Amino acid sequence: MRSAKLTNEDKKLIEIALNVIMNNRLETKSISASVGAALLSANGNVFAATNIKNYLSSPTSICAEPAAIASMFSSGERRIKTIVAVHMPDRKSQKWQIIRPCGACRHFISSFGNPWVIVSKTKKVRLKELYPLALKPFN
Ligand SMILES: [Zn+2]
Repeated sequence: MRSAKLTNEDKKLIEIALNVIMNNRLETKSISASVGAALLSANGNVFAATNIKNYLSSPTSICAEPAAIASMFSSGERRIKTIVAVHMPDRKSQKWQIIRPCGACRHFISSFGNPWVIVSKTKKVRLKELYPLALKPFN
């Protein structure tokens, strides 16, 4: 798998993803949030969001990546340059890790380009490395 080292811009995006989950970490009987995502659009704007896990109706849960993408999309932007998601299991320990997008998110992200996906604290890969032969519209 071809990968690249993280730049300072990538590290700042990780910090933004961490901040959005640190500020919004939630655990109730009905909903929780433990993942933060941040993306840098092709136009250079940053969008961030948390996941929303719904225990009462799990199909209505939403991952953090599409939540951030919806924010970008609502601002009129359609291309992602770089995206990252971080998981913080509990606020007390402040431990966190970078998580790779789930299968559904890999497909969803592919509708907005072939962005860099930060996959660890040191590396990033192009989405096509994680989701080759993505579904394309019939021509
Ligand atoms: Zn997902």
